[in-house]
Amino acid sequence: GEGLPRPEQTRIIVVANQKGGVGKTTTTVNLAASLALHGSRVLVVDLDPQGNASTALGIDHHADVPSIYDVLVESKPLSEVVQPVPDVEGLFCAPATIDLAGAEIELVSMVARESRLERAIQAYEQPLDYILIDCPPSLGLLTLNALVAGQEVLIPIQCEYYALEGLGQLLRNVDLVRGHLNRALHVSTILLTMYDGRTRLASQVAEEVRTHFGDEVLRTSIPRSVRISEAPSYGQTVLTYDPGSSGALSYLEAAREIALRGVGVSYDATHAPIGA
Ligand code: ADP
Ligand code: MG
Repeated sequence: GEGLPRPEQTRIIVVANQKGGVGKTTTTVNLAASLALHGSRVLVVDLDPQGNASTALGIDHHADVPSIYDVLVESKPLSEVVQPVPDVEGLFCAPATIDLAGAEIELVSMVARESRLERAIQAYEQPLDYILIDCPPSLGLLTLNALVAGQEVLIPIQCEYYALEGLGQLLRNVDLVRGHLNRALHVSTILLTMYDGRTRLASQVAEEVRTHFGDEVLRTSIPRSVRISEAPSYGQTVLTYDPGSSGALSYLEAAREIALRGVGVSYDATHAPIGA
């Protein structure tokens, strides 16, 4: 794929929003595939017991597969659960199985319960440009592990009523983690998802989000697209399922924007696909 500057150090991006259905998983897998197609080495960590990111990447995650549960609860090295994603060079996935639903409770009594993912990532020796962590729709111990392990938080926001409701709680958690557990953590990126520019509501919400968050909001937004929602049932990202679709182009563009920001290069939207 088209080359983009690669970060000097691994960027660890936590995709979080405690609301369900806002596009966390869709964004995680499609951004990860886009970054890999741009030439980076990328690991997706599936931290949602539903395992939707694993499914969307075509990664086996039935109950017996070594998974992120074993890493968090059994201290298995991350390298023993990571699988290459078929069809996308440079893309890898640490899958989630249904076991992970119990981890939220099992972790409570464990030593250093909030930093188990961080330790596992620190011990992982394969070179990576990006790690994207797909969080469950809650602010429990799994999401806390992600916030302690990461440097950046990416918040997908769906352009609909109440889009900003509940975000205060996530932002307060980010502040708490930064204050006590992880000085590097910050909200680096807001991505507008399922954007329908034809509706006034969507453009009003987008306006509100841009006023509230300013420069953190990517200039690229992700359109509502049937192709994006179909791809997971084929175990594919939209980048391989329909590479020319508006959804694929917008995720490629969002990835370009994120990569350029990471090396301090200002983003030029001149070549962005129309509507992105
Ligand atoms: P979350 O992980 O935040 O719960 P998902 O990524 O699973 O959200 O998305 C919720 C639903 O919306 C899924 O069915 C997904 O296929 C669909 N979806 C996400 N983004 C888009 C989009 N841009 N266009 C159409 N459907 C989308
Ligand atoms: Mg999800």
